Amino acid sequence: MSEIADRYDPTRVEPHWYAVWEERGYFHADVDSPKKPYCIVIPPPNVTGTLHIGHAFTFTLQDILIRYKRMDGYNALWMPGTDHAGIATQYVVERQLEKEGKTKEDLGREAFIARVWQWKEESGGTIIRQLKSLGASCDWARLRFTMDPGLSAAVREVFVRLWEEGLIYQGDYIVNWCPRCQTVLSDLEVEREEQDAEFVYIKYGPLTLGTVRPETKLGDTAVAVHPKDKRYRRYVGKTLEVPSVEGTITLQVVADSAVDPKFGTGVIKVTPGHDPTDFEIGKRHNLPIRSVIGFDGKMTALAGKYAGLDRFETRKRIVEDMKGLGLIDRIEPYRHAVGVCYRCKTVVEPLVSKQWYVRTKPLAEPAIKAVRTGKIKIVPRAWSKTYFHWMENIRDWAISRQLWWGHRIPVWYCDKDGSMHVSRTDLNACPKCQGPLRQDTDVLDTWFSSGLWPFSTLGWPAETPELKVFYPTSVLVTGFDILFFWVARMAMLGIKFMGDVPFRHVYIHALIRDAEGQKMSKSKENAVDPLSVMDRYGTDAFRFTLAALAAQGRDIRLGEERIEGYRNFANKIWNAARLVLTNLDGYDPARARRGSPSVADRWIKSRLTEATAQMRKAMDTYRFNDAASAVYQFLWHEYCDWYLEIAKRSLYQPESPEAKAITQRTLVETLETTLRLLHPFMPFLSEELWQRLPHKGDSIMIAPFPKATRKGRDAEAERLMAPVLDFVSAIRTVRSESRISPAVELAVTVKPSGPEVAGALESGSAVIGSLARAAITVSRDGARPAGSAVATTPSGDVFVRLEGVVDFEAERQRLRKEIERARKEIAFLEGKLGRPEFVERAPAEVVERERERLGEQRQTEQKLSTSLAALG
Ligand SMILES: [Zn+2]
Ligand SMILES: [Zn+2]
Repeated sequence: MSEIADRYDPTRVEPHWYAVWEERGYFHADVDSPKKPYCIVIPPPNVTGTLHIGHAFTFTLQDILIRYKRMDGYNALWMPGTDHAGIATQYVVERQLEKEGKTKEDLGREAFIARVWQWKEESGGTIIRQLKSLGASCDWARLRFTMDPGLSAAVREVFVRLWEEGLIYQGDYIVNWCPRCQTVLSDLEVEREEQDAEFVYIKYGPLTLGTVRPETKLGDTAVAVHPKDKRYRRYVGKTLEVPSVEGTITLQVVADSAVDPKFGTGVIKVTPGHDPTDFEIGKRHNLPIRSVIGFDGKMTALAGKYAGLDRFETRKRIVEDMKGLGLIDRIEPYRHAVGVCYRCKTVVEPLVSKQWYVRTKPLAEPAIKAVRTGKIKIVPRAWSKTYFHWMENIRDWAISRQLWWGHRIPVWYCDKDGSMHVSRTDLNACPKCQGPLRQDTDVLDTWFSSGLWPFSTLGWPAETPELKVFYPTSVLVTGFDILFFWVARMAMLGIKFMGDVPFRHVYIHALIRDAEGQKMSKSKENAVDPLSVMDRYGTDAFRFTLAALAAQGRDIRLGEERIEGYRNFANKIWNAARLVLTNLDGYDPARARRGSPSVADRWIKSRLTEATAQMRKAMDTYRFNDAASAVYQFLWHEYCDWYLEIAKRSLYQPESPEAKAITQRTLVETLETTLRLLHPFMPFLSEELWQRLPHKGDSIMIAPFPKATRKGRDAEAERLMAPVLDFVSAIRTVRSESRISPAVELAVTVKPSGPEVAGALESGSAVIGSLARAAITVSRDGARPAGSAVATTPSGDVFVRLEGVVDFEAERQRLRKEIERARKEIAFLEGKLGRPEFVERAPAEVVERERERLGEQRQTEQKLSTSLAALG
């Protein structure tokens, strides 16, 4: 037996075992394995990322599933990878350039992309290293990246095929444009700045409406009101002839719920060419788009006499002109947030430009059907409703992004003959005229590539053995926040290109919040940093906490004391194992086979079977918290609190060498099996201890997950043990309530509730006596002896003699004093909670806390009174 340290040190154990597992290839799934396949694809973290609490949570749950299935005899593949995260990554590198006083334009597209790749090689591995320290058993040999050659080929193939089938098209879309930088800005690149402005109320025939951007009036194609606004109902659907700066113009009146009837006059002008909301309204009502401001920030030819003028100059001029025509009702000062370019602070101009789209309706229909018919099962089921709602109202998907980092759109244009070519391979010359080509400058939305993840990572479009074995994958685990961004897209594209669903189950987990239920964020400083927590408490304690909290719902509250609690659990297991390991001297399994096990030996085996059954059931239905609770309750309360205590007696004062050997065997076998149950949750601690115990095989990671067989249950042993547990607990309670030192041996009479309990006590009373430190008398007629405390249990009554143990008079006085104190407290709390001003005004949690205190005090008072009565 190797030496075992007196306390658990995760920092020594964790890196050691992870390296061993990885080196021995345990994480690797072989396509030639005859075992049944089980596959999870990792939701690819951003390559720029570092491990945050949300990652830690989702990856812990996935690792638990993978380890469970791997042990349970499956050919388990956890497919890892990272996402190129277009906007986020480009932004990081642009920021670096900025520090060097450069822009991406200074470098040019090619050099900039080279620079991003360089950054990815140097810093992109952080998140992977951190996942390893979390214990993630991914098949790292298969690590993929959304921009690697294979996945890029998959992206091209999908684009071209969708194009060929008419499911990709170009259409107009409104974007954020910086007229100074001459570039489209993502929403991330638009900053909000408070500015003073004028709210100009303009007369539109019979209607009046306010605007801060009167120059866009030239691009109006409608006015809109809220559908329920009675004031304007009679105008809806009509066409108005409205006098304006360039003669009379014609405007439709539309009803749209995007209009806020309480803002301004409740009427808005609709300029689809220069406002994102108006653009959407325009789409809903088929309104024409008039672009009156150009990419240079100057008015276009459509602006008539204002053409060529700067947009802000036009704003002043048009107000003056309208004043002259009597078209201004009034002007009010107005302060509002304006979107400006993050780089040059120029006011951003929303402009309509051509974007690429995927037609989603034909893709969404089969994806809806897959969930309806149960081919994809969403857990918890409530999320299916949200999924249907979103998918049934799905809009076409704008897939082009005006970025440099990403999959460039595989479309080439010939300026000589105006032809356009969509191609799987790069084109150098026009296939029609051999003239020069230019490639579309946009890249694809990041979700376009991650939407292919379940099959692109397995080698598609090549027909690989991986695809054959592992597609469809078994389960996708993710938070509800990306159900649509990601899960829905994978469902649509998987069915389209593989002809089958990408996963059988989707497990949607909650999001982690702090102990007060607040969203964790760096700025609020309430974010739990997984790496520092793992450092302080050990990875296993952290993983177990996350699993124990993983109830199905929307939010999870994580406080540090929970993690501390599970570190104590880890230490408890360590200490239990130490006790077992230090008592194995002379252990001879052959001798154990010659005797028959005691009730306690049989009982703990039966309880282990029950815990195993509970765990398996919970794991198979994604109730991670129930699985964690099953192993926790068994290990802490049944194995440590009861069985170890009973076993000590047999180890230190054995009835026979055979009995001792059987106890040793039960201790070892039960612990070894329990460690296998625990392994998916606490991989490091379980491996460390398992290796020290007698075991079969090279690693707990690849040892079989325990099975619960019907013959593993021993109803008789459980029935015989019940009185032992009941009576010992009752005697201990009396001891603590009467404040009797644990060193004092008590005289106890037990009165069994029936002949069955009486039978159990024949062998059980000695165990009760030793665990409760009491001399036990079994009395079947059982009158209560004088001067004794009584406790009632389902197995019968317990009378604990207090005479000679307790100084009755002193104890009576103490109890009366305590009762008095409790009653005062009760009166005080009742008074407080009886005052409406307290109950109504104090925060709900304060009132709740006082109610709880009152309940506790009432219970205390009752217990004290019972004890006092027992003294006679
Ligand atoms: Zn700018
Ligand atoms: Zn050409």
